[in-house]
Amino acid sequence: MCAQNHKRPSWLRAFAGERCPQCRKGKMYKYPIWNLGKLLEMNPNCSVCDLKFERETGFYYGAMYVSYAFTVATLVSEFLLLSSVLNIQDPDIWFLVIIASLALLLPIFFRYSRVLYIRMAGQIRYDPKTEQN
Ligand SMILES: [Zn+2]
Repeated sequence: MCAQNHKRPSWLRAFAGERCPQCRKGKMYKYPIWNLGKLLEMNPNCSVCDLKFERETGFYYGAMYVSYAFTVATLVSEFLLLSSVLNIQDPDIWFLVIIASLALLLPIFFRYSRVLYIRMAGQIRYDPKTEQN
């Protein structure tokens, strides 16, 4: 008997693992995040509870605003960290740090903006009964 089957998956673990918001087990994306060519290819339905991930046509356009918020928060945080905390006043260093961090973080922002958006706007509640399939 596996104890994992009876344990309620946490919201945070399901979010971090890009799992279905309803059963918290099925994967939302087809490929791992390092497969950049297929970064945003999603499974049409949850493999565990059959939830349709594309709630309606164009549903994930709203996720662009979430991604934008992640990006702006990162830029402001980095700028404050570099200029005020680390007292680096060279704009060339600001530029390099911000470009390098965005190159690393944008794929993460794009994916997690959808993972967050379906939880915010998808009107889906966690349902423990769906995870037993
Ligand atoms: Zn599911």
